[in-house]
Amino acid sequence: MTSPAPRNLPPQMCPPEYVGRCAVCQADCHRYGPGGNPLCQKHQALAPALQKKPTASAAGPAPLTPA
Ligand SMILES: [Zn+2]
Repeated sequence: MTSPAPRNLPPQMCPPEYVGRCAVCQADCHRYGPGGNPLCQKHQALAPALQKKPTASAAGPAPLTPA
């Protein structure tokens, strides 16, 4: 059975390989594949709002130091 991964399921409804830790609260949640930063259903709903708020620590990559 090769059905595509469903949208966002409660972790108890996911196959183990699709369960990961929420990047925000570390709760078990459904992720969409290997790697990435999964979000639980609560934080996924909040994600657009979180991404709108700039943070000082997300100012981009550090500049290369001159040799
Ligand atoms: Zn969360």
